[in-house]
Amino acid sequence: MQYKLKLYNTLTNNLEEFVPFNEHSIGMYVCGPTVYDRAHIGNARPAVVFDVLYRLLKYLYGNVKYVRNITDVDDKIYKAAKSRNISINEITQNTTKMYHDDMAALNVLPVNIEPKATEHISNIIEFIQRIIDAGSGYISNNHVYFDINTFNNYGLLSNRTLENLINGSRIEISQNKNNPGDFVLWKPIDDEFPVGWESPWGKGRPGWHIECSAMAHKYLGTSFDIHGGGCDLIFPHHENEIAQSYAANHKLMAKYWIHNGHVMINCTKMSKSLGNFCTVREMLENFDGETIRLALLMTHYKSPLNFCSNVLQQAQNILDKWYKAIIDEEIKETNDVDINILNSLLDDLNTPQAIRTISHTIKNNSCINIVINTCRKFLGILTKDPNEWFHYSTVNENWVLEQIELRAIAKKNKDYKEADMIRNILLAKGIRLEDTPTGTKWKRD
Ligand SMILES: [Zn+2]
Repeated sequence: MQYKLKLYNTLTNNLEEFVPFNEHSIGMYVCGPTVYDRAHIGNARPAVVFDVLYRLLKYLYGNVKYVRNITDVDDKIYKAAKSRNISINEITQNTTKMYHDDMAALNVLPVNIEPKATEHISNIIEFIQRIIDAGSGYISNNHVYFDINTFNNYGLLSNRTLENLINGSRIEISQNKNNPGDFVLWKPIDDEFPVGWESPWGKGRPGWHIECSAMAHKYLGTSFDIHGGGCDLIFPHHENEIAQSYAANHKLMAKYWIHNGHVMINCTKMSKSLGNFCTVREMLENFDGETIRLALLMTHYKSPLNFCSNVLQQAQNILDKWYKAIIDEEIKETNDVDINILNSLLDDLNTPQAIRTISHTIKNNSCINIVINTCRKFLGILTKDPNEWFHYSTVNENWVLEQIELRAIAKKNKDYKEADMIRNILLAKGIRLEDTPTGTKWKRD
């Protein structure tokens, strides 16, 4: 292996060199959305972060099997379908389609396998049976529970003791359980949720955690390379996946556990200035998908991200600057990659560092062709024709005023080429400038 990829492994709390089980076939599983509502920015962050990792792994190893599930059985789905008076099928199919559209707008590549829980009920039932046979599952009042006392390493991923885990979280209280920390593998139909499948334990539905263990096992085997998701999934979801999979297979489910940080949204502030745009679709009405993508990648994936309109505006300014600088370049496709950008990504996906490198290189007008190709390949940005970018990217008044000021500065510095370019970019966006004795005025065409 020519390059060394380093990734932060939550399981060991260490930055580790990535050494796959098999260099010729890399396996990665990422927990996907529960499909009952439009994707919000908290769903978009892991999709974009793991898309960058997927692109990098494909470059390094060639063959990568990327599995991301669709949770299409859940109490939230049933409640949403009931309140909107539509069928469960309709809501899950429509929401899945909207999720695909929104992620495509963010240049997220399709994954290799996207298993749906409802299409894998027999695999899930079989997996639960193996857990029961291994002595780690028990039946109580038509439910099947996982007995966490049978797994000595419970708490390994979140690095907490069982007592701390139970005290510090909202655990469903139930008289059916032997231990408050035990979690459900199968639950019976009831008045609240009358939809279910036949099973050895009666008609019912699987718990959420078990679907990931069963489907990851089906497509990636007993132990695979990378399991990812948002850090809010570490406990209980991923902790439970590890316990279940160990009980069924006697092996650690995955070698590297990668988690992206929280997304914080200052909703009040955002809705005040730009309307409520917590969902990706609403943001796309005001910003290009590449802008949202860059805004997500400007912060390192492990750090918390405070997502607000300023971050989006900052991302748009950067992309405007980059597209402006390459407007006259003829970009040719090449397999060569910029080593500085690649090195940043090899260092635990350091996208902020990669973005600084791109800015620096574009500013110095050096090796632009390779940088643009590298940027497209790994980061999924600068994929558009610059003229198209300036035509379609959103125009808002502050941006126009900023451009007028930049043009005035350029004219003052006798940089007429720059001044003309700014005028032309504005023109391409349908903004006409008029120089008057009292200053430059603008109007929409
Ligand atoms: Zn999962």
